Amino acid sequence: MSASTNTVFHSTSPDGTIPVDSIPTRIDNADANNQEETKVQEEKLITLNVNGRHFVTLKETLTSGNDWFKNRLSGRWNDALADGSYFVDADPNLFAYILQYLRRGIAPLSYKQVGGHDYGMYAALLDEAKYFQITGLIDWLGKKKYRDAVVVNTSSQEVEGVSDIGRNTSSAQRLKFFPSRVVKKTYVCPRSIGMHRGDLAGCGRACARAEVSRVGDRYEDEEVLTTLIVSQQTVIEEAKLVIG
Ligand SMILES: [Zn+2]
Repeated sequence: MSASTNTVFHSTSPDGTIPVDSIPTRIDNADANNQEETKVQEEKLITLNVNGRHFVTLKETLTSGNDWFKNRLSGRWNDALADGSYFVDADPNLFAYILQYLRRGIAPLSYKQVGGHDYGMYAALLDEAKYFQITGLIDWLGKKKYRDAVVVNTSSQEVEGVSDIGRNTSSAQRLKFFPSRVVKKTYVCPRSIGMHRGDLAGCGRACARAEVSRVGDRYEDEEVLTTLIVSQQTVIEEAKLVIG
């Protein structure tokens, strides 16, 4: 674009001509060239009006390997709207997934930590994919391949007491806590020294001498509160979303 050019955005009529009122009044060579380039670009673009929401994409994106759009945009129906767009009677939210797939070959994933996969969405999208004859997506959804894209790794650990380990976890990690009371055998110092309780190595020579004349058991039952922490880490494998 030359700096002197006033950029004029114009729309192309269905027959490919440019409406008179959108042609810039001051035309020099640079403008004419820009206009020519813009026209070429525009001819490659298509605007779909999907129940009121507009999607602009390359015509090629829609028609390559897809008979439904090839037929719809062949020009034989001559049914473009006044603004040059084509009306498509579909749910725009679902259509966005369709277009994402046609553009990049990326399959849809709708998954939440709580609730898991959005099977209702997948079912509705499968219907749309069948309507638009998009075989790759029909296969992906029909065979429930989205399941392969979400991996949940589960691990668990038992800690004594009440743990606050959940404080610094990421949102992709889900923790479940199972507290319980268990009875453990606890070592008791023969001299009843509190600091030696549960710690045989803490006892010294004086304790060893007292051991000989120990009164009572060497081990006592002690109730301990433990928490089993089950951690579920959800990993989305992006590579599995690319349909080859
Ligand atoms: Zn001791």
